Amino acid sequence: MGRYVYDFTEGGRDMAGLLGGKGANLAEMTRLGLPVPPGFTLTTEACRAFLEAGSAPAGLWEEVSAHLSALEAGAGRVLGQPDDPLLVSVRSGAKFSMPGMMETILDIGLNDESVLGLAKVSGSERFAWDSYRRLVQMFGSTVMGVDSSRFERALALLKDRRGVRDDVGLAASDLAGLVGTYQDLIREETGAPFPQSPAEQLRRAVLAVFQSWNGERARLYRRREHIADDLGTAVTVQRMVFGNLGADSGSGVAFTRDPATGRPGLYGDYLPDAQGEDVVAGIRNTVPLAELEHVDATSYDALCTHVRTLERHYRDLCDIEFTIERGTLWMLQTRVGKRTAEAAFVLAAELADEGLITPDEALARVNGEGLARLMFPRFDSSAAGSALAHGVPASPGAAVGAVVFDSGQAVRRAAAGEKVVLVRQETTPDDLPGMIAAQAVLTSRGGKTSHAAVVARGMGKVCVCGAEELTVDTGARRLTAADGTVVEEGTVVSVDGSTGAVYAGAVPMVDSAVIRHLEDGRGDGGTRGVVDAVSRALARADAVRRLEVRANADTPQDAERARRFGAQGVGLCRTEHMFLGERRKLVEQMILAGTDAGRERALAALLPLQRQDFAGILRAMDGLPVTIRLLDPPLHEFLPDPTELAVRIASARARGEEPDAHEVELLGAVNRMHEENPMLGLRGVRLGLVVPGLVAMQVRAIGEAVAERLLAGGAPEAEVMVPLVGDVRELRLVREEVQRVLGEVSREAGVTVRCPVGTMIELPRAALTAGRIAEEAEFFSFGTNDLTQTTWGFSRDDVEAEFFSAYLDQGVFATSPFETLDREGVGRLVGIAVAEGRAARPDLTIGVCGEHGGDPDSVHFFHAAGLDYVSCSPFRVPVARLEAGRAAL
Ligand code: PEP
Ligand code: MG
Repeated sequence: MGRYVYDFTEGGRDMAGLLGGKGANLAEMTRLGLPVPPGFTLTTEACRAFLEAGSAPAGLWEEVSAHLSALEAGAGRVLGQPDDPLLVSVRSGAKFSMPGMMETILDIGLNDESVLGLAKVSGSERFAWDSYRRLVQMFGSTVMGVDSSRFERALALLKDRRGVRDDVGLAASDLAGLVGTYQDLIREETGAPFPQSPAEQLRRAVLAVFQSWNGERARLYRRREHIADDLGTAVTVQRMVFGNLGADSGSGVAFTRDPATGRPGLYGDYLPDAQGEDVVAGIRNTVPLAELEHVDATSYDALCTHVRTLERHYRDLCDIEFTIERGTLWMLQTRVGKRTAEAAFVLAAELADEGLITPDEALARVNGEGLARLMFPRFDSSAAGSALAHGVPASPGAAVGAVVFDSGQAVRRAAAGEKVVLVRQETTPDDLPGMIAAQAVLTSRGGKTSHAAVVARGMGKVCVCGAEELTVDTGARRLTAADGTVVEEGTVVSVDGSTGAVYAGAVPMVDSAVIRHLEDGRGDGGTRGVVDAVSRALARADAVRRLEVRANADTPQDAERARRFGAQGVGLCRTEHMFLGERRKLVEQMILAGTDAGRERALAALLPLQRQDFAGILRAMDGLPVTIRLLDPPLHEFLPDPTELAVRIASARARGEEPDAHEVELLGAVNRMHEENPMLGLRGVRLGLVVPGLVAMQVRAIGEAVAERLLAGGAPEAEVMVPLVGDVRELRLVREEVQRVLGEVSREAGVTVRCPVGTMIELPRAALTAGRIAEEAEFFSFGTNDLTQTTWGFSRDDVEAEFFSAYLDQGVFATSPFETLDREGVGRLVGIAVAEGRAARPDLTIGVCGEHGGDPDSVHFFHAAGLDYVSCSPFRVPVARLEAGRAAL
C-alpha cells in the first residue's frame, strides 16, 4: 500500500509532482519557518488511483484521519467541534499551476450546531453565518452539483429585498436565513440534505477536488497550456484562518516584483475584511498593497521580510497569497510567479546582476515565445487620440477587435474569423473559452492579480483589467465610458495591455522597441530595460549555442534584415518567389513552349533577371553561405486557372465573339498538364529532369552572379540545393548538369566558380536512403514542411482548415505537426538521415529550412539531433538564436 498523505512539515519544493505545486511550496514555507497554518496534503497518486478506480484507494481515509487527529491535537479542538469548531480548507493543487481551473471548498466543519459555537468564540454572529453560507454554497455547487447560479440568484434576491448593494450590507440574521434557503435549494435539487457530519464533508470535498481534475475547464486549460492529462491533482487540507473578521483582518496577493514589468519592489493588492477568494475574484476593488503599511504596519513589515526571504530562497519572482487574521499574518500560498514576456527578460537580467542566478540560468529563464511576443508591433501613441478609459495594464501587447460581452459570443465570432475583445465586469474560470478565442480581455473590476489578469498573463494574451471608468452592461450588451460614449457589441476597440489604455476604433501600429533595436541598435527611453535585457539574453545565447542560425530569404531586402537580426547566412532562397508578377508570363511561356526554340527564348529572358536577384542576395550576405534552391513548386502554380479560362472562352462564344486564340491554346495546354495531386506531381527535381534547359538556366544565373561578385571583390558563397529528391540517381543527374554549367561559366568569366551541391531531405524515401544520397550531396537541408506532409500523408494545403481542430480537440496531437516537429515520426526520419548521411560523408553539413526551423520546441530537437544549423524566416531569427542557446545549456 502506498503512502497517500504528507504533513506540511514533511515535504518540500522538489516534491511538486507528488504534492502539487501548492502542497510542495506550503511544505517549503513551513520548513523555512514562515507562518503557515498547519495542514497536510493528499498526493496526486491518490488522485490518480481514485480517478482510475472510481473510489478512494484503500487506506486513504485511515491516513487522512491520522493526520487530521494530529492537526486537531495541535489546535486543541476537533473538526467541527460544536462549541469551538476547527475548520479546514480543501484546495486543489496540481504540479503545474492551473489558476482557478479546479475546485476549492472553504470552512469545512461548519454545521447547524458549530456555526453557533463559531459565533460565540469569534464574537461575531455575522462572520459565523457568512462563513457557513459560503460553505453551503461552495459545497452545494462543487460537491453536490447544484447549479451555482441558483445560489447567486438567491443572494441577489435577498440583497434586493434588503436594498443593499454589497454582501457586507447583509445582517447576521439575513445570512442565517440565506443558509436555510440554500439548504432547501440543495434538498430540492438533489433530494439529499447538506451533510451535517464534518468528517463526511471533508471526505466528499476531497473527492470533489480530485474529480475536478477532469472538469471541462481544467481539461481545456491543460490542452491550451500543454499540461499532460494524466498527472492528477493533489489536495491540501489546511486549518482555516480568517481575513473576514473585521477591519483588522484582510487578504491579499503579493508579488516580490512587478509581474508585468519585472521591476523590483513589492507589488500586490489587498482587500480588508475579506477572504482570499474575494481578492482573486475581483468582486470588490482591492487597494494597492502599499496601503497596508498604514493600516497594519507590523503585518506589512513582516510580509516584506517574508517576501524577501522567499525571493532569495527561490531565486525568482514569487507570488504569495496571505491572510491577516486579527493582526496576525499567515502565508497561505507561494509559487514562482507567472510573468509577462517583458518581465521575464528584465527579471532574468536583474537577478543575474544581483548575483542570485548565473548568466546561463538567466538564459534558461527566458524563451523564444516571449521574445517573439516582444517583437510584435505596438500602438502608435501619436495616432491614438484620447482613450475611452484607462485600466490596469495587466498583460502587455496591442490588440484590436470587436467588443463582445460573453464567452460564448467570443467563441462564435472568433470561429467565424472575426477578431474580438472579450469585455466582462470580471472574469471567472467559466470565461476561459472566450478568453482563448479573444484577442484581448478587458474588465472593469479587479487588479493585476484578478483571475482575468493571471490567466491572460499565463496565456500571453493582452489584458487590461479594473477599467473602473467603464460601465459594463452585459445584459444590454454595451459599455459606457465616463464621458458618456456608448460602445455597443460588435464595435471595434483597441486595447493596449502595456499602458492600460482602451481606445475606440482601430489604432494604427508601429514596430516594437525590441524590433527597432534589433534593426538598428536604437533603444527606447521608456523600455530601455527590456531592450537591454533582450540584448543580453541574445548575447549569452550566441556565446553558448552550437547551432548556427540562417534565414529563409528570397530578396536582398529580406537577406539584409535577416543579417541585422543575426542570421549567419541564407538557408533557403526559394527561387519560385522570383517568378511572380510580370515574370510569371515568362515562366508560363517556358512551361507551355511547343518548340525548343520557344522554350529557349523564355529561358533566355529569365536568365538576366535571375542573375540580378542572386547577385543582390549574395551582396547582402557577402562572406556567408546562401543556399539557392532550384525551382520547386508544382507547375500549376504558374499557370492560369483552367476554369477561369474556360469561362472566359465560353462567354466570348456566347456573345458571338471569337475567343482569344492564345487563351484557347493555353487552355488546351493547361488541361493537358492538369494534375490531381500537384503537390505529389511534376515538381522539385522532377521538373529539372523533365523541362529541358531549366536547371541549366538557373545554375548559369547563379554561376554568373557568383562570378560577378568575385570580380567585384566580394566573397560570395552560393550553394545549389535540389528539392524533392527521393533517389540518389535524380541528384546525380542534376549534379552533373550543375557542374557542367559551372565549368562553362568559369571558363567564360575567367574565374573559378565553385558551388557546393546539396539536396533537401523532404521525402521519407530520401531520409531512408540518406546514406546513398550523401554520396552525391555535399549538404542536406531538411524540408520538414514536405517531410511532415509526406510522412503523415497530410496535404499541407488542406488539412489545417479541414480537420486539425478536431484532432487537437480529441488530443491526437497537442500542436499541429506543421508547427512543432513530430519527434516520434518525422523526427525519427531526421535521426536516420543524419546518422546514415554522416556515416557516408562525415563532413556533410546538415540543416533544416522548413517552418520548424523557427519553432522553439523543434529547435531543441534539431540541436539534440546534431544538425549544424536551422533556417527560418527573418523575424524568427532572434527567436531561433535564443532557443539554440537555451538548447545548449
Ligand atoms: C519544406 O518542405 O520544408 C521546405 C522548406 O520547402 P517548401 O516549404 O518550399 O516546400
Ligand atoms: Mg518543400
